[in-house]
Amino acid sequence: MMIYTIATLASHSCLQILKGAKDEGFRTLAIGIKERSAFYKQFPFIDEFIGLNYYREFLEFSGILRKRKIIVVPHGSFVAYLGKGADEKVKLPYFGNKKILEIEADRNKQFSWLSKAKLLLPKTFTKVEEVDRPVIMKLHGAKGGQGYLFAKNKRDLSSKLKKTGNNINSIYMQEYIVGVPVYLQYFYSPLEKRLELMGIDKRYESNVDGIGRIPAFNQDSSFIEPTFTIIGNIPLVIRESYLPLIYEMGRRVVEASLQLASPRGLYGPFCLETIVTPDQKFYCIEISCRIVAGTNLFVNGSPYTDLLYNESISTGRRIAREIRLAINKGKLDTILD
Ligand code: AMP
Ligand code: AMP
Repeated sequence: MMIYTIATLASHSCLQILKGAKDEGFRTLAIGIKERSAFYKQFPFIDEFIGLNYYREFLEFSGILRKRKIIVVPHGSFVAYLGKGADEKVKLPYFGNKKILEIEADRNKQFSWLSKAKLLLPKTFTKVEEVDRPVIMKLHGAKGGQGYLFAKNKRDLSSKLKKTGNNINSIYMQEYIVGVPVYLQYFYSPLEKRLELMGIDKRYESNVDGIGRIPAFNQDSSFIEPTFTIIGNIPLVIRESYLPLIYEMGRRVVEASLQLASPRGLYGPFCLETIVTPDQKFYCIEISCRIVAGTNLFVNGSPYTDLLYNESISTGRRIAREIRLAINKGKLDTILD
């Protein structure tokens, strides 16, 4: 029924995105390196696979693809595989506001946005001498927690900076919040002016989530350094009494985005990555302004989308539904960039 094709890079949350697109009546296209073709082609909801020799070749294909009615749904692999500025380089209709993605990519701008939204944020440090608590060092360009380092105090920090050949200007340094990670997945519909909580997950990170498997008396702290490489996700439901606050946090973030990237602000899927402390405070460590891979848990809907919809709605499907709605209303250009 629809001549539009929804396309994405074959990785991260591609399967969920294209399954959702097919369920909403679109044609689907996965673009990935040739070696992955057999794997992706086994899924009946993928109509077409374009095999690349290397990821950046996708950018060279843009010209040919522009002649077709293609809508690209970006996810976490875009920047990882296409490099910095990937969103701007993809010259195809894109679901999302590129101005927002640009703000997200700059940690300082991101934090000023989140503080405008009155979220609780970890303290950031720009000088080693000021560090008076445990910190996490996020090396520039580090992805998915890989390359993050923990320092328990100022001395530990200085020695790790020296050891890794980094200086304070090449890293982003945040107070380390001791609590549990809670990742809040939202969707904001600009057409229906509605915010939806799509799901919640926690991450499974190596080695930090494995350190507890070794008894403390067997650990040599100079040997086991915590690292945060993302391996997978675990579903979570949260105390119901927290839900109104969580909803309000998402609402404020959308509201604040309108001042930063007017007129459209943030829309579509986004995720507030939080650490919740024993005194029940939600510290936001980061925002992701596109579909996060933790939504892959809920291909058949989540405990939260089940309450909103009487059908299986994943975040991928919710994106496709918004696109379909926009096409039907003749407003496609308002949600594409
Ligand atoms: P991949 O396509 O798996 O190589 O991932 C592309 C980018 O997305 C990398 O920066 C990953 O660290 C990140 N990523 C992939 N899966 C997840 C996940 N489940 N949670 C958070 N980040 C992820
Ligand atoms: P991020 O890339 O910012 O989502 O962080 C990746 C992982 O590093 C998170 O899932 C946490 O386990 C850890 N992390 C990042 N920032 C902090 C923080 N300020 N306090 C505690 N843990 C953090």
